[in-house]
Formats: sequence, structure tokens, C-alpha cells
Amino acid sequence: MGTEVTSVQSRVEESMGYALGLRCRACGEAYPPSRRVACDACFGPLEVFYDLDALAPKLKRATIEARDNTLWRYAELLPILDPGAIVDLRAGFTPLRKAENLGETLGLRHLYLKDDTVNPTYSFKDRPVAVAVSKCREWGLGGVGCASTGNLAAATAAAAARARLPCYVFVPAGLDPVKLLTPVVYGAKVVAVKGTYDDANRVALLAADLLDWGFVNINVRPYYAEGSKTLAFEACEQLGWRAPDVEVVPLGSGLLLTSIAKGLQEFFHLGLVKEQQVRICGSQPEGCAPIARAFLEGREDIIPVERPATVAESLAIGDPASGRDALEIIRGSGGFADAPSDPEVIDGQLLLARTEGVFAEPAGGTVVATLRRAVADGKVDPSEVVVLNITGNGLKAPHAVAGSLPPLEPIPATLEAVRAFLGV
Ligand SMILES: *Cc1c(COP(=O)(O)O)cnc(C)c1O
Ligand SMILES: [Zn+2]
Repeated sequence: MGTEVTSVQSRVEESMGYALGLRCRACGEAYPPSRRVACDACFGPLEVFYDLDALAPKLKRATIEARDNTLWRYAELLPILDPGAIVDLRAGFTPLRKAENLGETLGLRHLYLKDDTVNPTYSFKDRPVAVAVSKCREWGLGGVGCASTGNLAAATAAAAARARLPCYVFVPAGLDPVKLLTPVVYGAKVVAVKGTYDDANRVALLAADLLDWGFVNINVRPYYAEGSKTLAFEACEQLGWRAPDVEVVPLGSGLLLTSIAKGLQEFFHLGLVKEQQVRICGSQPEGCAPIARAFLEGREDIIPVERPATVAESLAIGDPASGRDALEIIRGSGGFADAPSDPEVIDGQLLLARTEGVFAEPAGGTVVATLRRAVADGKVDPSEVVVLNITGNGLKAPHAVAGSLPPLEPIPATLEAVRAFLGV
């Protein structure tokens, strides 16, 4: 292992052991930090909890600031107990960009982009995977896998390569070819399942049991979720240790949104940032919006979408596992959810690229489009501090925008032709 891993290890060593176990989100029942995903008493989802009261006097802003620029700077708040198990591709601590131009266009004075297009495999999924694959190594599991809409497959495959573990990724067969290719490059076996993400997820679940491997978003899900909350930690730290007023989050399974909310609560509890209201807002494309629809129609229940149809492949999860929890958080925080159309999503992508120089995949266009509608409807005040979570890179889904742009017309290599083309 390289020196960079060793330095992460020594840092984590002194900061381990605050993760006490798992707790049911629904009934509060506590469990040891084992490989278990649902509550025995009520089948509710489990999440990791920490000894925050013991940690509060010890974890200072300056301590964190002095550390490496990766998500492991928050080691006390991550559930890895054996530092030797850490798989570190240097995910996290991505830029928080002040978006002056996009802010001006939309009518917001304090708009920021949390830019996760620049993670090791170009999406935020490197965060949850870093924690989940480290946990699988800690447990000595024989391999890792996932069910994925594309980005998770690449992130899991890359971490598995680094961890020297075999890896199977289950994806819907109709994905953008770039997303099918990438995990193969990292050496994973890609299982392209005919049907939707939910079909791929169903067979992945069976495979996880069959192999007894760690499937990061299935049987390692509570640990996996912990990696995603570092997006919220970083946004707070990079805002100068304050929380934003509004977080806009793309929704697939809903777990990213619930994790961001959990991260904010932990920072409040620790006193690392001053407690305040943060409106947590969700965004899904119209062609697959089970959570946003429930919000907009004032329902409690999530009605699954059987045939998702949207350019935002990353968000095409028809039956979102964390949908109810996400909905509850959006409502409870005073946030909103919306479901822009595919043309609005692509406009959002192009607007972001052309104002800020950030090329996001359609998930990024979705949050831009949702914010645009919200500002137009007066749901966001121009003076509020708004963080847009830009979760994936546009180069991973090039076919989504390509169809909306005019084709190139090659010209002869002559001055006349250049003059005619440019009209000068
Ligand atoms: C997975 C993914 C999401 C949604 O995350 P969930 O935890 O499934 O809600 C958002 N954006 C991108 C780019 C993703 O890959
Ligand atoms: Zn329970």
C-alpha cells in the first residue's frame, strides 16, 4: 500500500470507535454494528449512530481543517473501525463553487454548486462506495457488488480494483454505452439485466445472498449511506462553517437526500455549525418521479413507476427504497420537490455548462431545472444561501445532450470556407 493510504490509516486510528451501532429509523431499536439492514421488530431501515456527546468536546473545526482533502477528514463520523480496511481513491472534498453567473440568471445572490463531477469516477457515488467497500474489507468478505443505474457500477468497480476484490455489478441493459463500458474497464463483471433498474436490483439481491458478498447498496446499505452525508459536511465547512438555507438534491432511491439530512443533524449536534432551518428539496425527472409526485399531490405513499422514461438514467428508479424517508424529510424541513420535464432537464444542463463551465449529467440538469422553477414560483428568496448538489459528470452520459445539439457541418480547409462559416 502507498504512503497516502498509510497516512489516512494513522489518522483514522486515533479517531475511530465513535460509531456505536445501528438504529432503526422507524422505532429506534438499536443493534450492534453488524451486517444487517432492517429492524427485526418493525422491518424499518437501519442507520449508523455515533457517540456524538463524547465526540463533541474533541472534534474541533481546526482539527478537521488540518486534515487531508478527502472524505476521510471526517473519520470520527464514518463507521470504519479498522483503519487497515480503508480503500482510499481520494474521493470527496470536491469544490464548492460560488455560481455568480447562474445565480444572476436565476435571480439568486448566494448560489453554490457542490461539484461532485470531479470525484475519482466522476460522480458522488465514490463517497458511499469508499465507506461500503472499506466495511466489506473490514468484514473480510470475498467480493463486492451492487445494483446500479450506472454511476454506482463504476464507483464500486474502481474501489474493488483498488481493494483487490472481485466485483459483479447489475445494471439495466439499456444504459448509455459509456456507463456499461466503464465498470468493465475497471475489471468488474457487468451483468446487464433486461428490464428496468428495479429488475436489476431484484436479481442483485438474490445474487448477494447466493455469493454472501457485500453488495454495497443492498446488504451494506446503512454503511453505504454514511459516505453520502459527507456532501453536507463539506458544503458546511466550505461555506465557512455554516449550513446553507436550501439544499437541492437529485432523487433516485432517495438515500442521498436522507443522508444529507443526517449529516446536517450530526454537525448541528456536535456544534460544528450553528443549528438553523435547512430546507431540503428534492428533484426527479418527470418521467420517473414517484417521490416528487407524492410530494406534489400531498400523499404519504409512494406509487412506484413501472416504466421509467427519462434522459436522467441515474435517477430512473421506479420503486425508491428510501422514498418514504426522503418525502418525510422534505416535508418536515419545509422544503419542496419538483419534477421537471426532460427538455427542461437538458436546458438545465446546458445552462449550467454555459454559465459556470460545469458539464453535469442530466441529474445536474434536473436540480438546476427544479431550482429555476422554484425561484420563478417565489419558493426561494434571492438572499438565501442555496447549495445545488451536482452529482455526476456530463461526459459519462454524452448521448443525453448530443441529441439536442445541432450536428457539426465539416468545412473545407480553406480561408474562404472559414470566413463563410464564421460570417466574417
Ligand atoms: C445515484 C445518483 C443519484 C441519486 O442517489 P440516490 O441515493 O439513489 O437517491 C443522483 N445523482 C447521480 C448522478 C447518481 O448517480
Ligand atoms: Zn424498528
